[in-house]
Amino acid sequence: MGNQIQLYHHAATFGLSSGVQYSSAQEDQLFVCFRCGICCNRYQVLLSLTEACRISGDLGLPLSVFLGRYADQHWPGSENFLLRRCNGACVFLENVEGGNMTRCLIHPFKPYACREWNPSLYRRQCQEGLIKYWGLTVSASGQLEGSEQKLQDFNSFLETLRFSDDLGGA
Ligand code: SF4
Ligand code: SF4
Repeated sequence: MGNQIQLYHHAATFGLSSGVQYSSAQEDQLFVCFRCGICCNRYQVLLSLTEACRISGDLGLPLSVFLGRYADQHWPGSENFLLRRCNGACVFLENVEGGNMTRCLIHPFKPYACREWNPSLYRRQCQEGLIKYWGLTVSASGQLEGSEQKLQDFNSFLETLRFSDDLGGA
C-alpha cells in the first residue's frame, strides 16, 4: 500500500515545515494549485465585453486587436467572447521548460472565471494533474497517496513554488 499523507489545505497557505501538513486544519478543502495546467486545457474561458476591455487595457492593446488575436473567431460575439485555444489549451497557457509546470501569461489580470476556479484535491482536473505529473492519487477521504519518493518530490516542488517569484499560476 502506498504512503499516505493527510492534507489540510487552503489556497493562500501551504507551509510545509513538516513536509506533510500544508497548514492548520481548514474546512474548505481548498488545495494549493501546483500549476499542472489541466484545467486550462479542459475549458474555454468566457469573457464579457467589460472583461475583454479590462484585459486588453492591461495588455496595452486596443480592444479590436485583442479580440482579433485572442478571441475565438469561430464564436463571434458582441457582448461575450471565448478565449481562443492554441495547441489544445488556452492561448495564454505556457509550458514552463524543464518542469511539470505551466504558467498563465496574464496571471495578474486573468479572467474572472479563472480567478474563481479553486484548486481542490477533489477536483477531477487536479487529480488528473497529480497522477500525470507526480504519480500521486487522492483517496476518497482526501489523502494524497503514492510512494514516499513521489510524495517527497511533490513536497519539494511545492516548496520551490512557495519561494518562487514566478507568480504565473494557472
Ligand atoms: S488561468 Fe490563464 S491560461 Fe488558464 S485558462 Fe485562465 S487565462 Fe487561460
Ligand atoms: S487542474 Fe488544479 S492544480 Fe492543475 S492548474 Fe488547474 S487548479 Fe491548478
